[in-house]
Amino acid sequence: MKKIFIVITALLSVTACAFAQNVDKLIKQKNVERIIKTLSADDMQGRATFTPGIEKAARFIESEYKKIGLVPLTGNASFRQNFTMVRTTTGKLTVSINGKNLPADSIFASGSEAFNWKTDPDVQVVQITADENFRQEYGKATRSGKKTLLLIDPKFNDSFTRIRDSKLKGSVAFKGKTLQPITIVLGKFDQVTSFEVSYENKVEEPPLFNIAGMIPGKTKPDEYVIFGGHYDHLGILKPMEGDSIANGADDDASGTTAVISLAKYYKKLHNNARTIIFVAFCAEEIGEFGSQYFATQVQPYKIVAMFNIEMIGKASKFGTNSAFITGYERSDFGKILQKNLEGTSFKFYPDPYPQQDLFYRSDNASLARVGVPAHTISTDQIDIDKYYHTVKDELSTLDVNNITLTIRAIALSSRSIVAGVDTPTRVAKLER
Ligand SMILES: [Zn+2]
Repeated sequence: MKKIFIVITALLSVTACAFAQNVDKLIKQKNVERIIKTLSADDMQGRATFTPGIEKAARFIESEYKKIGLVPLTGNASFRQNFTMVRTTTGKLTVSINGKNLPADSIFASGSEAFNWKTDPDVQVVQITADENFRQEYGKATRSGKKTLLLIDPKFNDSFTRIRDSKLKGSVAFKGKTLQPITIVLGKFDQVTSFEVSYENKVEEPPLFNIAGMIPGKTKPDEYVIFGGHYDHLGILKPMEGDSIANGADDDASGTTAVISLAKYYKKLHNNARTIIFVAFCAEEIGEFGSQYFATQVQPYKIVAMFNIEMIGKASKFGTNSAFITGYERSDFGKILQKNLEGTSFKFYPDPYPQQDLFYRSDNASLARVGVPAHTISTDQIDIDKYYHTVKDELSTLDVNNITLTIRAIALSSRSIVAGVDTPTRVAKLER
């Protein structure tokens, strides 16, 4: 017994070693750097949804897929998975509270239709006070579906400004979905005795698309493994030290780079039992719309696992050669990955920031909602990352070695799932 055990162990470590050598050869740091450099360059203008910058990024990703030799998804003529959304922008807005008109930079509103409120009893007036959890209370008010006048304490000025800036670019929703009529005000009010809101809007239907390609499975073509990352970012922000382009090098050019690199890796290996889909999602930053649409185009039970890759540009809080997995405890996905890394020094940890709600904050959530073991792999120290969602999220602030090591670890750790040997347990369909 013992002898056999030793032989098997030796064999296993030889294979692990062979795989590790392969992965180093097939995922080269120079190529990783070339891809992320292109995606996060200033000429992509921050890859904001509905801008020429993102079109440029899309063309680059398509050209990479083509070069690698991916094929479009079944039923698609190209790598573009097209759909349309309804975009609503504010036309005119005036707000007064207790008879006093409020300045334009302290208000914003959204809704599918124009509205006029005059101390309307149907409108719920909600205050987020300084001692409350902003993210939680904001989420509650904006998901209530009710006509809402939301008053935010000036302590949350930064969050207010960020949300207002993005809302001014438009609220986006799927066709047929009604946007909650809401007016948001920054200010302190002891009592609201009267209010008046007049809101007019403009509605358009701009096109969107994910960029998806696949490698058909050799023996289990009806079982799918997905590698995804979002290629959109925030575009142009208020200038900081003369720079206004939010390059989104970490968020999420790094994840998109991983998707392209993994496509190249698996195409070269040419031995995937299951079909692998590589998808660069659009419109993540404005509501994960690309992945939501994608989830409506697949049969969830056929998807065995989803690797979503977000922000792998800097060493994690556990040091180099480590990353964390969101929703680790929701399936045995993480355990399988770790098992495949035996003999290497890379380690996957459960998400160390549960209070940040990261499981719901990226494209994996769109697939987890329908039961797919869909998890996000990241190395970002989100609690202290000063560059997150700023113009400073540039390639020069990243460690390309960390990106390369993480991509290689994902390649190694995914291999038994791609080979049809391991199948992660399903996650419970999500409550939101
Ligand atoms: Zn992101």
